[in-house]
Amino acid sequence: MPELPEVETTRRGLLPHVVGRRVRDVVVRNPSLRWPVSPGLARRLRGERVADIRRRGKYLLFDFPRGHLLVHLGMSGKLTLVPEGTPPQAHDHVDVRLEGERALRLTDPRRFGAVLWLPDPAEKHALLRGLGMEPLEGGFSGEALAAAAGGRRVAVKQFLMNGQVVTGVGNIYASEALFHAGIHPARSVSRISRERWDRLAAAVRATLESAIAAGGTTLRDYASFDGHAGAFQDQTAVYGREGEPCRACGTAIRALRQGQRSTFYCPGCQR
Ligand SMILES: [Zn+2]
Repeated sequence: MPELPEVETTRRGLLPHVVGRRVRDVVVRNPSLRWPVSPGLARRLRGERVADIRRRGKYLLFDFPRGHLLVHLGMSGKLTLVPEGTPPQAHDHVDVRLEGERALRLTDPRRFGAVLWLPDPAEKHALLRGLGMEPLEGGFSGEALAAAAGGRRVAVKQFLMNGQVVTGVGNIYASEALFHAGIHPARSVSRISRERWDRLAAAVRATLESAIAAGGTTLRDYASFDGHAGAFQDQTAVYGREGEPCRACGTAIRALRQGQRSTFYCPGCQR
């Protein structure tokens, strides 16, 4: 499933090719995604210029003068830029044709993605309203994490993966960040010092940035906007390495189950 780094990789890849261009047309071949594709997109967007592409959690927001096109990649979706006239394949459900003879194409075999029109302000929309802190933005810090943890007793890994606390820190990235911060994934958030929260915030940010630099993580069939697969999965410290030696101390990496997800950690490095 595309995670925050894949979505951010897509966003950064599309920015120079899409922002500032006008939409020539929108073609919806199959509106049956997770929610029906908003009707009337072609009428609404024809001739309008893309002002910016932003990301909130795993949602992409294409900003237009009178509203926003929200795109979610669901379980299996990807956005690619294709030369105009490229014949659509079976799972190519939506094309946004742009000036410059290229089209932004949504491919989504499992159809859990979304393409919705949001009026201003986008942040008030039900899908975006309850989202937690953005881990790559300025407000994300040890202080903010400690404040959000106040009064809770949940395990720190569950806390990090709660989208109402922090957006987009999926299973891989939570495991990796906790390793780099030296914090045991089952430790209660009520028992983490302020210094360790600072270390964790820095580790979350660094883990996501290195995944973005590697072009995201490819676990199934995800490919970034120009079709290149990500490489982050080949450089994890703990994720997917049960029984293998820790790269820092040589102790065998262990796995445990938390909330029906596998967590990987080093018993030598993480307390
Ligand atoms: Zn270790």
